[in-house]
Amino acid sequence: MPQTTPKRAEIIAIGSELLTPERVDTNSLIVTRHLNLLGVEVAAKHVIGDDRARLTEAIRTALERSDILILIGGLGPTEDDVTRDAVASALGRQLALSLEQESILLEKFRRINRTMAKNNLRQAYLIEGAEALANPHGSAPGQFFSTDRGAVALLPGPPRELEPMVEHELVPRLKPVLPPQVIRVRTFRITGIGESDLDTLIAPVYTKYTNPVTTVLSSPGDLWVHLRAQSDTEAEADALLREVGNPIAELLGDRLYSEQPDDTLDTVVARLLRQRRATVATAESVTGGLLAGRLTDTSGSSDYFLAGYVTYTDEQKHQILGVAKDLLAHHSAVSEPVAAAMAQGARARSGAIYGLSTTGYAGPSGGTEFDPVGTVYLGISGPDGDRVVRARHGGDRYRTRTLATQGALNLLRKSLLKPSARKGL
Ligand code: ATP
Ligand code: MG
Repeated sequence: MPQTTPKRAEIIAIGSELLTPERVDTNSLIVTRHLNLLGVEVAAKHVIGDDRARLTEAIRTALERSDILILIGGLGPTEDDVTRDAVASALGRQLALSLEQESILLEKFRRINRTMAKNNLRQAYLIEGAEALANPHGSAPGQFFSTDRGAVALLPGPPRELEPMVEHELVPRLKPVLPPQVIRVRTFRITGIGESDLDTLIAPVYTKYTNPVTTVLSSPGDLWVHLRAQSDTEAEADALLREVGNPIAELLGDRLYSEQPDDTLDTVVARLLRQRRATVATAESVTGGLLAGRLTDTSGSSDYFLAGYVTYTDEQKHQILGVAKDLLAHHSAVSEPVAAAMAQGARARSGAIYGLSTTGYAGPSGGTEFDPVGTVYLGISGPDGDRVVRARHGGDRYRTRTLATQGALNLLRKSLLKPSARKGL
């Protein structure tokens, strides 16, 4: 457990344009990334218009709660650039003209052959006790001062000015203010389970801990669990990640497809195909080529992807894949036997080691009483036999097709994970 209470930060982005539908605060993401690398968690972020009173109030409140306060923007030369004034009045400090900053500003204007407007001189005012942060890419310097419990920084709004200032000016000044603290992250990439089932499964483990902090993110058929541990040392943070993460990994079983944050199901399947020296061909109906698209998304996919057949009509399923006509007539194209026959057909026609198939009702129209819209059958045919899974998805056409594609890739992944798939090695 951490010996010292970790320092936490709050960020205020200032600018009325950030409250319109046209602009979004991206600077705080850059600041957050650097703070996290220093082991500092961001506890809250705010966006406030160019409003002196509101900003002053927000600064006061933030300083009561947080150790480090980062203010972004509003350092321009005009009347509506209120950040300097607001910080000074929130802390009861004076603003004073810095002769050094005045001459730096004058020099910047001289170099571009422009006379400096009088209001630019506002940018040479520093808050009592603050140090100027050099801004080689713009006119307004940043400002930094330490406080009893941490520090306050004022940074310029333009991203090309902010980013180098954070890296070269802010980070080196924050380091000495901070106790030893690190943040370590562990990421789980998961498929084959819905978001609420996932949470029911793992919540009993992670809700016992406030450190690491656990977050669950989801998109159709793909989930992320992030654990963020904060501690004095890397070793301690890693121990916390193991303590909470290992039981979670155990519960996830083969639904956990990777712990590498950059992996996708596609890259994991591609890697397995390569390792097993396996090949695949697809027979698609409901996914209309999406599955072949995903399997060929990774460069070098011709090493393992042999063919993709998109057979939408019964006739083409029969002609191209050799699905028996009476099978289609008796069971309909959306059925377990047809999904199996499609996978066998893709395999036989191409000579691939695995045949993978999709058939289903994407909707909004179609479907039957037994197999309503959203029902898909996913088939695989391979060296250790055939398998078909049926799934019913709620939601729109896009969601059904995405989930079917993801499900088929996962079916292939699970087959490739079986010990029998390793024989080729
Ligand atoms: P300047 O000296 O250039 O006036 P400033 O510190 O006053 O700098 P702003 O006027 O607030 O900065 O913003 C300048 C530009 O940077 C604007 O285009 C604004 O949209 C952009 N910007 C400001 N804050 C952010 C932010 N948090 N995220 C992304 N862009 C921002
Ligand atoms: Mg502004």
